Amino acid sequence: MNEMNTKAMYKLSYGLFVCTAKRGDKLNGCIINTAVQVASDPNTISIAVNKANFTHDMIKETGLCNISVISNDAKFELFKHFGFQSGRDVDKFADFPKSSYELSDAGIPFITEGTNACFALKVKQEVDLGSHTLFICEPTFMTVLSDTSSCTYEYYQNNIKPKPQAVGTTPKGETVWRCTICGYEYVGEDLPDDFICPICKHPKDDFEKIIR
Ligand code: FE
Repeated sequence: MNEMNTKAMYKLSYGLFVCTAKRGDKLNGCIINTAVQVASDPNTISIAVNKANFTHDMIKETGLCNISVISNDAKFELFKHFGFQSGRDVDKFADFPKSSYELSDAGIPFITEGTNACFALKVKQEVDLGSHTLFICEPTFMTVLSDTSSCTYEYYQNNIKPKPQAVGTTPKGETVWRCTICGYEYVGEDLPDDFICPICKHPKDDFEKIIR
């Protein structure tokens, strides 16, 4: 029993959430799959946020964030908007429809479309986990927005994420590595071992080779 088959990790089930924060006038948000209720008295929610995400730094500095629970009504556009671009490069709320979010008392957005519940969280403890920081939080507000089921990672993979297009062979016979998580494509014969997807931050293991 000394196997380390990392595919076992894919058997863990996860929900999907928009994690939003505010620092100064800047509003931002990212997609996470790591919001979990970890205690009931007092109610406690933990979230793990990748340090590469701009939202991570905003939560670390302000100690506040909101979590909107993504439902099966969510469109791929929501994942693309919050998951496939960085708040370092774009203002994610500049072009996000005003009708799709509201602000909490702290001025942090809640996503109200394609979601079924939201929480305002106050960070009580932080644990450095290497790639991620675990924020252990106390909810200061929570509400239900819809009766639609929560979107699991598996549901997203099977029903929301567009199916990869068929690929053939280009005249140049290029090798393309596609991120199986977000669809980002890297062109080149070899994908470096330490390659990290610039979009979703997943490692080389999550890329598949495509010849076209
Ligand atoms: Fe990716």
